[in-house]
Amino acid sequence: MAKPRGICVNCQVEMRPHRIGVPVITMFGKPPKPYELGFGDEYQCPGCQHITVSAHSFSEWPWRRHHDPDFEKELQHALRIAFGKNVKPVYVYENFLDVPGKEPRSRVLLRQAREKGKIR
Ligand SMILES: [Zn+2]
Repeated sequence: MAKPRGICVNCQVEMRPHRIGVPVITMFGKPPKPYELGFGDEYQCPGCQHITVSAHSFSEWPWRRHHDPDFEKELQHALRIAFGKNVKPVYVYENFLDVPGKEPRSRVLLRQAREKGKIR
C-alpha cells in the first residue's frame, strides 16, 4: 500500500515525519478511561508547525485492549518510555466534550454572549 501523504490545507505543503511510535491511547466511558493502546506516527507542517497523527501508519492497532491481562502494565511501560523521551502521548476521546479543558465553539460563543449581556 502506498504511504499516506498528509498535506497542510492552510500552508499547501506536504507534512513531514516528526516522531514515530508515539503512544496513542483511546479513551472510553464516563468518566473516560484508557480503552486501547497503540502507536502512531506524527507528521508536522514545515509552515505552521501543526502536528497530526497518522492513523494509516498505525502498526498492529491496537497493541493492547483494556481487557488484556497485561493492559495496565503495557500502558504504564509505554507512558514511561514516552515521558523519558519527552514525547507527549496522544489521547483520543470518544466525544469532544470529554476532552479535559475543551469547550466546543458553539458553547464558547454562547458564554461570551452571556458575559457581554447580549443574552441571558
Ligand atoms: Zn501548515
